[in-house]
Amino acid sequence: MKTRGNIELVKKLYGGDNMLRAEWHMLLTALTAKEKEYLRALAATVAEEKFGKGVYIRGLIEISSYCRNNCFYCGLRAANREAQRYRLTKEDILECCEQGSQLGFNTFVLQGGEDATQNDEWLTDVVPAIHAAHPDKAITLSVGERSAEAYRAFRKAGADRYLLRHETRNDEHYSLLHPQTMSASKRRECLKTLKEIGFQTGSGMMIGSPGQTVEHLIDDIQFLEQLQPEMIGIGPFIPAAGTPFTGEPAGSIETTLLLISLLRLRFPDALIPATTALATLHHKGRTQAILAGANVVMPNLSPRSVRSKYSIYDNKATSGCEAAEEIEKLEKELNAIGYRINFARGDYNKKGTEKCIM
Ligand code: SAH
Ligand code: SF4
Repeated sequence: MKTRGNIELVKKLYGGDNMLRAEWHMLLTALTAKEKEYLRALAATVAEEKFGKGVYIRGLIEISSYCRNNCFYCGLRAANREAQRYRLTKEDILECCEQGSQLGFNTFVLQGGEDATQNDEWLTDVVPAIHAAHPDKAITLSVGERSAEAYRAFRKAGADRYLLRHETRNDEHYSLLHPQTMSASKRRECLKTLKEIGFQTGSGMMIGSPGQTVEHLIDDIQFLEQLQPEMIGIGPFIPAAGTPFTGEPAGSIETTLLLISLLRLRFPDALIPATTALATLHHKGRTQAILAGANVVMPNLSPRSVRSKYSIYDNKATSGCEAAEEIEKLEKELNAIGYRINFARGDYNKKGTEKCIM
């Protein structure tokens, strides 16, 4: 009886109906192993209907490990004296893009700490330089909270997408993860602005961050329902040396995979990456995420010499399938589970017709 009830809930979610909080609670806590497998398979089918067996790739360029913020979970936080700092120059970044272009990447993601040197003006100069050199490629930024004017300038300069996780929708929980200088409402305001400006916007949260409850996760899902982001990035929390949370346990892989499947059913068109954090915790994390409904991988395109320095959490995976130059390895890994790389730009497409044609 109970089993049928949970399967009915999964079907209701698949049908696009609004879910009650109590129903989300059941989906997050009460599914048996069999029911989870049913959910996973359904999520994979929905992803396949929308995107075929193709997985989009994004070249991730980690442009700076300097950050003025002090998020309690992050190894790059300003107060972490153990962190190794570097910043890429405009020329370094253009070189990464050139290499990425030769490897077949059609999206570059510039991600970094909130570095005072890489300020709004600097970015407003770098983005058009990339755009001029690679007019057909998508440019994604992930450089934190900036003013509405700055976001507008980035968009005008040629940036197409912006990633800014809301981290947690619950204000109290947000205060547990961040110093008082940062606020959940400011973060949400930034996301609203990014959407209004016309960025394909990515949000998301860590799974299993310290103090996170099931109710918080339901708040997160409901926030995503309001925001309607084009991209949703979720990955397990992983403790980082030199942070207040260094001794905390990592988030659960199983819960992360469950969330990926639930989000795929709730947001069938969304671009959902198999995150590096999942790949870091388990060698099959990436493929399991694809099989649970994820459809994007973001291999590392940063210069090799700096990769180990962008240490937002401990032992971050940067080699093998996570390395852009080893793209054949990624292709083989995907082939082994019946998938392949889709080299297209992979813009958000509500009709979901840009299937892999290879
Ligand atoms: N400074 C930018 C981008 C870099 S951090 C920003 O904060 O948006 C990118 C993401 O890494 C963050 O949004 C956070 O969700 C994730 N992250 C940071 N520390 C982490 C940790 N210890 N474990 C897992 N993910 C983490
Ligand atoms: Fe800085 Fe982003 Fe890390 Fe926070 S999560 S400390 S904003 S790099």
